[in-house]
Amino acid sequence: MDDALALVSSGWQPFAGGTDLMVLYEAGKLTETRFAGLWKLEELRGIRVSEEHIELGALTTYTQIRQSALLADEFPLLCRAAAETGGIATQNRGTLGGNIANASPAADSCPPLLVYDAELELMSGAGIRRVPYAGFHTGYKKMLLEPGELIRSIRLPRNNKKGWHQVFRKVGTRRAQAISKVCLAAAARLVGGRVEQIRIAYGSVAPYPLRCTRTEAALLGADPRKLPPLPDETSPIDDLRSTAGYRRRVAGNLLRDFLESLG
Ligand SMILES: Cc1cc2nc3c(=O)[nH]c(=O)nc-3n(C[C@H](O)[C@H](O)[C@H](O)COP(=O)(O)OP(=O)(O)OC[C@H]3O[C@@H](n4cnc5c(N)ncnc54)[C@H](O)[C@@H]3O)c2cc1C
Repeated sequence: MDDALALVSSGWQPFAGGTDLMVLYEAGKLTETRFAGLWKLEELRGIRVSEEHIELGALTTYTQIRQSALLADEFPLLCRAAAETGGIATQNRGTLGGNIANASPAADSCPPLLVYDAELELMSGAGIRRVPYAGFHTGYKKMLLEPGELIRSIRLPRNNKKGWHQVFRKVGTRRAQAISKVCLAAAARLVGGRVEQIRIAYGSVAPYPLRCTRTEAALLGADPRKLPPLPDETSPIDDLRSTAGYRRRVAGNLLRDFLESLG
């Protein structure tokens, strides 16, 4: 671990599963030529369980997430996102830490992390610090990771959404092996037919995975059968996968479906 941190702090690029990096390599878009392979670092592996948190090592793969009965029980949206990420080969090799650090707005595991109030543990030669995942991405491909830092783990506070109604929806060109045009992770708890607590997060509709806090605030106390006017917090773009107009419309439809399913 010390050697890896020393390499990363002198500019070597972390290389986890390589499922994003190798695509860039094949496309001739990889500028860095020095890579610090993380794959064998035990400290970045494993799912650790305590009374308060489940801590996923940054190298936790989608396959490991899918195979965890505990995650399926307490964090079903993350399991669902893992199951809908790429195909089996990508799921065996792609990691949660890599999905976050690659900082794509379309990263499917990130909206569930926003819903579950995840926290990141970042590590460098100077030690370990923790930051909330919400706010970690600050712009397109920009994040709070300092030079020389690695993502060590992702911490999920336990049981915080048990009993909530939860939905993960991904819309792509195909039903499998497609990068999202839009994805939604949402969870809500109703009391007396009214929204008591709610979390809404999207992928692919903003420069980074988006938590919709103003929409959440507008829905607090609402009867899902009589929805109040909702703000549009998305800022989608046209790109090779879709258009801004389509994304905005689908994002609205996915949210409406979710809210109607509560009523
Ligand atoms: C065929 C295919 C299909 C895919 N489908 C999907 C999909 O449906 N949904 C989706 O979201 N993604 C998809 N991806 C993208 C990819 O699989 C994920 O983003 C994956 O989680 C990346 O993890 P990795 O370990 O392979 O990262 P790598 O390629 O090793 O690294 C990605 C980036 O993260 C950095 N990095 C990696 N680990 C760390 C760490 N611990 N600390 C700091 N920086 C780190 C690297 O330096 C690099 O910049 C697909 C990829 C392929 C090839």
